[in-house]
Amino acid sequence: MLEEIKPKKVGIIPCNGEEICEGSITRFASRKVLDKLRPNDTVTVCLPLFIAGGKEEREFAKNYPTITVDGCDKRCSQISTEKLSGRPYHSIVVSDLLKEHSIEPPKSRRALTDKDQAAVDLVADEITKKVDEILEKS
Ligand code: SF4
Repeated sequence: MLEEIKPKKVGIIPCNGEEICEGSITRFASRKVLDKLRPNDTVTVCLPLFIAGGKEEREFAKNYPTITVDGCDKRCSQISTEKLSGRPYHSIVVSDLLKEHSIEPPKSRRALTDKDQAAVDLVADEITKKVDEILEKS
């Protein structure tokens, strides 16, 4: 029997929301996963380059599992990924996740307070859980 080939990397695709605070959380949380929590298991896909026609980005997202991380329910990253490369393995919407856990969104887009860090940690943990699920580590 053929052994199923397991993916070795997961692509994290955060939206580029600068206009709302939840949009900043997508990038802080994704960076935490990429730099600290799962540096060997994840790569990031640059959404603007992906949309602008970046060949490597589109190929990667076609051939490897991806997790999109959107600040709000407009789901810019999820929709772009679905259009350009295929369905993400998992899609996170930060505003929904914060609501589910009764965590207030940050008030500033520039600086995070200690309280805001809880929001970053929650989103980063959710991304990590999904990465582990994909790589069958959990
Ligand atoms: S998903 Fe929401 S926060 Fe992110 S880029 Fe789109 S509109 Fe902005």
